[in-house]
Amino acid sequence: MPVINSLKSLPRGHKIALALLSTAMVMLIMMPTEPAVASRVQPDAPPVQDERQPLRLKVEDRPVVDDHLPARELVVKVSRGDTLSSIFSRQGLSSTLLHDISQLGGHAKSLRKIHPGEHLTFSFDRKGRFVGLSYPLDAARTLDIRQNSKGLHSRIISVQLEHRTQYAQASVNSNFWGAGVSAGLSPGQIMSLAGMFAWDLDFGLDIRAGDRFAVLYEQRYKDGILVDTGHILAAEFINQGKVYRAVRHDDGNYYSPEGRAMRKSFLRAPVNFSHISSNFNPRRLHPVTGQIKAHRGIDYAARTGTPVVAAGSGVVVESGYSQFNGNYVVIRHDRTYLTKYLHLHQRMVKKGEKVKQEQQIGTVGATGRVTGPHLHYEFLVNGVHKDPKSVDLPQAAFLSRGELARFRPKADKLLAQLNKVSEVMLANN
Ligand SMILES: [Zn+2]
Repeated sequence: MPVINSLKSLPRGHKIALALLSTAMVMLIMMPTEPAVASRVQPDAPPVQDERQPLRLKVEDRPVVDDHLPARELVVKVSRGDTLSSIFSRQGLSSTLLHDISQLGGHAKSLRKIHPGEHLTFSFDRKGRFVGLSYPLDAARTLDIRQNSKGLHSRIISVQLEHRTQYAQASVNSNFWGAGVSAGLSPGQIMSLAGMFAWDLDFGLDIRAGDRFAVLYEQRYKDGILVDTGHILAAEFINQGKVYRAVRHDDGNYYSPEGRAMRKSFLRAPVNFSHISSNFNPRRLHPVTGQIKAHRGIDYAARTGTPVVAAGSGVVVESGYSQFNGNYVVIRHDRTYLTKYLHLHQRMVKKGEKVKQEQQIGTVGATGRVTGPHLHYEFLVNGVHKDPKSVDLPQAAFLSRGELARFRPKADKLLAQLNKVSEVMLANN
């Protein structure tokens, strides 16, 4: 029987009803608006002057008489396969203008990779001469190209987005994915949350009913409308009673409250949790022997073709096939640590090759002596098999003194907010 489940469904055979212990507690806190893109260095852009942004007309070719406005605007929606050149030719625009715009450097280069669904707004004066082109880069920034007596000039017009901090939290009842969904997190955010703690927790096998989490993330609004959900700012995950916390630093990485990097030498699992079908089944039987955890590795039951990644950086010391192991890969990480990956469908690395942590080395398969597709993963310390979940692993580095001084005040504030949410949640339970 294949023990495969789709991303969002419960593991087969589980009778535990998906009852949501706690609905998402959502609180909006107005955060002071942070300086937006306008404050960045933009060599080819003068200071922001929102009022000069051309009026965006919904209707193509609407004539206007106001002297302060362009006489005519042409809004072009980018279609699949469009380039600036194909748009110019379709709209009968001058190839000299196309050339001049193509020669503009800086932000104007973004016109080289326009995407379907985006809009370009051309403006013309009453004599039909080109006066400007505007192209929204994202919710906050618009590329604005103007024609004046000295030629073409490009700049970025920025609007400040309002940043709001949003909270989400849930208790795990039947599986982590379901809890994430019940908390109101998007699939991307659920993956990010698991990613933040991927060096501490095996989200495929370690998550238990009663685990809970609280997340603080950013949303950006323009004129009161949600335009963008940003990064997770801080999160707490309580797994089998143990508390894990992480805060995002402005270098884009996550750190513990003390300033230790969440990223460590070894991932807890070489297969992403979303592919693992053994959730909530700690008494897994070995696919061959039928015994409980009787052998020297961890089995991850997953669909054939599921990506297998290197748990840590190192060198491939073996990549081959044998009758019992099927396709297998062995990685030496340093003098102490070695990892093995057996029964692969596909091997994607060769002996002697250097691999980076999280680099895909193959796919889950059912080669060798097995009854169904799974990854058999072994973790060896000085040649002895260890349980990678309980073995002491090298500690991650701390932020430098200077970085820590910048990190701490922000982290303390976020963690205090997170604490409040967590307390409310406990009270509700
Ligand atoms: Zn095994």
